[in-house]
Amino acid sequence: MPVVWSDRHRLHEPGGEVWVGVRTPGTEVPERAERIRAELVAAGARVVDAAPHRDETALGNHDDALVAYLASAWEEWQAAGLTRDPGQDRVVPYVFLHPGLISDRAAAIPAAASARAGRFTYDTMTLIGPGTWQGARAALDVALTAADLVLGGERAAYACCRPPGHHAARDCFGGSCYLNNVAAAASHLRRALDGPVAVIDIDAHHGNGTQAIFYEDPLVLVGSVHVDPAAGWFPHFLGFPGEAGAGAGTGANRNLTLAPGSGDESWLAAVAELASWAAEREARALVVPLGVDAAAGDPESPLRVSAAGFHAAGRALGALGLPTVAIQEGGYDLVAIGPLVRETLVGIEEGMRGS
Ligand SMILES: [Zn+2]
Repeated sequence: MPVVWSDRHRLHEPGGEVWVGVRTPGTEVPERAERIRAELVAAGARVVDAAPHRDETALGNHDDALVAYLASAWEEWQAAGLTRDPGQDRVVPYVFLHPGLISDRAAAIPAAASARAGRFTYDTMTLIGPGTWQGARAALDVALTAADLVLGGERAAYACCRPPGHHAARDCFGGSCYLNNVAAAASHLRRALDGPVAVIDIDAHHGNGTQAIFYEDPLVLVGSVHVDPAAGWFPHFLGFPGEAGAGAGTGANRNLTLAPGSGDESWLAAVAELASWAAEREARALVVPLGVDAAAGDPESPLRVSAAGFHAAGRALGALGLPTVAIQEGGYDLVAIGPLVRETLVGIEEGMRGS
């Protein structure tokens, strides 16, 4: 299947993350995408450059205030002198918009650049640097170009993008995500097709941003299999089985949680359950937020899925026979990330041939 790419991901170098107040090296690094691309090219993949998409198409799932903030955050941080005093070379929040802080009042946008980040982010791990906006915006073009290829007749396409997106919600960002690539592609497909679009998120962590964006939408089915937040895992506040959608979207959201240490058997059973659900709901297209951090050995999750497990998951998803867009999310083991993505994509192609 075609691999969609943009060199502009390299512009986003988060410069580590701040975890429990300590600057750590971070794992969402440019080398992730480079490794995946090299693996797929070596296997004979056709690489397609991302085409630019209009802001109306790309950014429609996000509030204007969030978009305006992300587009200018780095320049404002610099202009405020914060890179010199106190000498912080990335945008790092220090005060947060907790709902209890403002009660029902409208949330103001702080005048101080040092305080503004906390209006829009919910963690300290998702730093903004000189090229973050350009990189995040390009990732949307990668995801949308992959969706275009499928709408143009390809059975499947893969968006090799970063930064990832599934933790970014309508009006806030976090979890190494700024803009939601999966949501952009799902909305694009939903507009073009007559019928529901299914999102089956196999990243090790709950796709809280995607869930939030489509929570009341009956035409984007959002299913996720992930490590149980009740066992102490990110995103901590969301991802529980009881979150089933609201309003017109009631029943269109599913969370299947796994205990830390879970491996192929329970993970693949959950993937199969979500695939059956998408088929029952007569989805017309499939978006796969393809994180490979559920793999045994990944530094960011306690799940223990094997390479053969990713291959089998790909087959199960491909067997749905739907136009399919796979979009890169997590995966932080730099040696394993390329082979794990390749296994999943080969599985999808095999599943499609058998369907
Ligand atoms: Zn993840």
